[in-house]
Amino acid sequence: MTAQDKPQGPAYRGDTYAVFGNPIKHSKSPQIHKAFAEQLGETLTYRAVRVESDAFEAKVLAFFQRGGQGLNITVPFKERAHALSQTASPAAARAGAANCLIPRKTGLHADNTDGVGLVRDMVANLGWQLEGRRTLVIGAGGAVRGILHPLLGERPAELTIVNRTPDRAAALAERHGDGPIPVQAGALSSVEGETFDLVINGTSASLSDALPELPEVKLSARCCCYDLVYAAAPTAFMRWSAAGAAWAVADGLGMLVEQAAESYYLWRGQRPATERVISDLRAGLTARS
Ligand code: NAP
Repeated sequence: MTAQDKPQGPAYRGDTYAVFGNPIKHSKSPQIHKAFAEQLGETLTYRAVRVESDAFEAKVLAFFQRGGQGLNITVPFKERAHALSQTASPAAARAGAANCLIPRKTGLHADNTDGVGLVRDMVANLGWQLEGRRTLVIGAGGAVRGILHPLLGERPAELTIVNRTPDRAAALAERHGDGPIPVQAGALSSVEGETFDLVINGTSASLSDALPELPEVKLSARCCCYDLVYAAAPTAFMRWSAAGAAWAVADGLGMLVEQAAESYYLWRGQRPATERVISDLRAGLTARS
């Protein structure tokens, strides 16, 4: 690109990052990355930017042409972010979706840190063991797409994906079913009477305090249940899990912070500590409720 090709507009100064999405108003990413930078004694700016659908690709390219150093991408643009990139990590390639873009000499590199974030929260923060577990994932939207590759990397005994729209679950199972772990898919009702050791709610039902219409399933003695949604009070899924005597139950706040920490590391080569950031966010959520 020559100087004349550069887009009009203010040049970015210093280390500039952003999250692009629509809607974006409630994003906690600026707060999280500010906390990471302060903790590591670094200076950067990180903005939440609402992007109109027809402007997404142009805005991303302009951001990097002006010297932006990293982007997070959220709903509804993760698939388009992957399509726009020249290279992709295995997690992003498998998902066909990216939540993190990194400028490299070879062009834009796409990664997907959602799954790493989820796994790190479950394993490192919560101390859950994932290997050998009969795992149920509810939902087949963008978030589930992003978590399956890292989840399978933890070697569960088997993975079942169920969704209100079963075809979407089947498509994901097909995309991930060529490895050593058995992956099956079906309608919500298809798991009637089955027993699981790990149940992950990847639907957005909790946002309206609703529960996916699950049949009767059994939670094993050490069953762990994780809701990707986070909230000030236990979600409908978390209450369902507790009523089923789950051994441990968690929401997605830790995942949110861990996926951000992974993005920070990919951009800047430094891995922030997350415990304090998670507890501060938790305190903020609770104070507002
Ligand atoms: P999405 O692409 O819109 O997918 C929504 C999923 O929820 C679909 O599988 C949909 O089923 C299902 N669903 C919605 N309402 C339902 C209901 N009442 N009963 C049963 N199924 C229902 O959304 P997404 O991007 O995957 O996000 C899902 C959730 O994960 C969001 O609420 C988001 O807040 C959360 N999330 C959290 C993090 C984190 O860091 N903690 C990261 C990403 C996402 P159909 O296919 O049948 O419509």
